[in-house]
Amino acid sequence: MTQHPLNLLIVSSEAVPYAKTGGLADVAGALPLEMAKLGHDVILLLPHYRCLSESGRSFRSVCQLRVPTPQGLVETLIEEDLIPVGEGGRGVRVWTVRNETFFDRPGLYQERGIDYPDNLDRFSFFCRATIEVIAHLRTACRWTTHILHLHDWQTALCAVYLKTIDRDRLDVQGVRTVLTLHNVGYQGLFPGEQFENMGLPPSLFTPAGLEYYASVNVLKGGIVFADYVTTVSPTYAREILTPEFGFGLEGVLGNRADRLLGILNGIDIDRWNPETDSYLPANYSVIDRTGKQVCKQGLQREFQLPKASAPLLGVIARLTSQKGLDLVATIIPQLMAMDLQLVILGTGEPEIEANLKALQARHPLRMGLRIGFDEGLAHRIEGGADMFVMPSRYEPCGLSQLYSLRYGTVPVVRKTGGLADTVVPLTARARQAERATGFHVEEDTAAALLAELRRAVAVYQDRPMWDQLVEAGMHTDVSWARSANAYDRLFVSLVREGKSHVS
Ligand code: ADP
Repeated sequence: MTQHPLNLLIVSSEAVPYAKTGGLADVAGALPLEMAKLGHDVILLLPHYRCLSESGRSFRSVCQLRVPTPQGLVETLIEEDLIPVGEGGRGVRVWTVRNETFFDRPGLYQERGIDYPDNLDRFSFFCRATIEVIAHLRTACRWTTHILHLHDWQTALCAVYLKTIDRDRLDVQGVRTVLTLHNVGYQGLFPGEQFENMGLPPSLFTPAGLEYYASVNVLKGGIVFADYVTTVSPTYAREILTPEFGFGLEGVLGNRADRLLGILNGIDIDRWNPETDSYLPANYSVIDRTGKQVCKQGLQREFQLPKASAPLLGVIARLTSQKGLDLVATIIPQLMAMDLQLVILGTGEPEIEANLKALQARHPLRMGLRIGFDEGLAHRIEGGADMFVMPSRYEPCGLSQLYSLRYGTVPVVRKTGGLADTVVPLTARARQAERATGFHVEEDTAAALLAELRRAVAVYQDRPMWDQLVEAGMHTDVSWARSANAYDRLFVSLVREGKSHVS
C-alpha cells in the first residue's frame, strides 16, 4: 500500500476493456487498477467512442459540462462506469466524454488505414473537456486532482492548456502532470494552418512551443509543458535521446532529460493467465504443460496446418515496418524450407498485408495468416506457439513478448527498447545461470533475424535446454507490481515538490 493516497486522474485515448488498437489500451486498462490497489483514488477518463456504446456496459450520467471550442461552448455529457478492484476495494471510476460528432464513429483514429482528417479537433476537444472535468471534480465533488497522468499525443495538450491559457484558473490550480510516451514515432503532426483549432495563443506556434518545421507537433507541446515525462522502458528512455529513435524530438527530450524516466510496463496477469485463460482450448501451468500441447494442436487446426511436432512460430503485431514485419516477409521463403510452421495475426500496411497473403498462398501447409484484429486468437497464438517472433526496429516496451514469457512461448526479439530489457538472451553466461528466457536479434536485418531463428530452432531440438528457457520465462515476474510502485514513488515525489513550490 502507498504511504500517501492521492487522487489520480488518468487520461487516455484507449483502454481495455473499452477500446483498443494497441498496447496503450492494455496499459491504460491495467495501471488504474494497480494504482487503486495501492490505495490511490483513481478516475480513468476516455472518449466515448461508438464501441463503448456497443460494449454492453452500462454507463450512468454524471454531469453536463461546457467545453470551450473555437466554435464556442459545447455542452458535453460525462458518463460513468465502475470497475471493481479487489474485495471491498474502492474500485476505479471510468468517466467518458461524449461528443457524437467526434467520437460516434467506427474507428478510434482512422478508418481503412486513413486517419480522420479532424483528429486534431477531436483530441483537442477531449483535452479541453479534461480540463473541465478537473474543474468540476474540484468545485462540485471536492476532489482535487493531485496527478493528471497523460498518455501519448492524444492527451498531451492537457499539459499545454494547464500551463498556458488555463494557468490562472483557480479551479485547476496545482495539478501535477505526467506525460507517458508509449511511442515517440506517433507525435500528432498536423498542418500549421490547423494551429488555431486548438485555441492556443499564436505565441506558442514557435520552435520553443508546438511548432515543428511549420507543422503542429502536439506531442512536442506535451513534452515541453508536462511536469514530468516518462516512457515505458529504461532502454527506450535512453534511446529516444538519440536521432535514430527520437524521430526529431531528441533535442526537445534532451532538454527534459532530468525529468525523464523509463518505467517498464507490466501486464494484467489475470487477463493473461494460461492457467485460467478461457480463450484457450486447454489450460496449463509451468508445472504441468500438457495443456500447451493441446493449444498447439488447436492452433494448427485453426490455421488448417497439419498436426506436426516441428516448432510453431507465432507473430501477433500491427503489420508495420516498426514491427519489422517486412523483415519477416523477406525471410519467409527460407523459413518455409526449414522444418517449422508459422502463424501470423495482424493488420496494418496494405503492402505488407498483400505480401504476406501471397506468401501464405504459396505455403499453405506451413504458414497460416489471419488479417484482422482478434483478441481471442491473440491469446490462442500465445498459448499454442512454441516461439514468438518480434523483430521490431524499435520497441518502447512491447507487451506481446511479456505475454509470451507468461505463456511459455519463447520470445525471439530484436535487441531494442523494452525487448532488450525484458528478454534475457541465451548466452553462455545466462545459460549457466539458468536465467535465459529467449533470443536477441542484434541487428535490424533480415539476415540477422534468420540467423537467430535458425539458432532458436536448433535449440528447440535440445529438450532440456528448451524446457529451461520455457520455465525461466514462465517464472519471470511480468506483473504490474514493481512498475506500479515506481509510478507511486514518482507521483508522491511530484506532489511533494508541488507543495514545496507553493509554500
Ligand atoms: P503496440 O502497442 O506497439 O501495437 P505492444 O506489443 O505493446 O505493441 O502491444 C500490442 C497489443 O496488441 C498486444 O496486446 C497484442 O496482443 C495486441 N494485438 C496486436 N495486433 C493484434 C491483432 N491483430 N489482433 C489482436 N490483438 C492484437
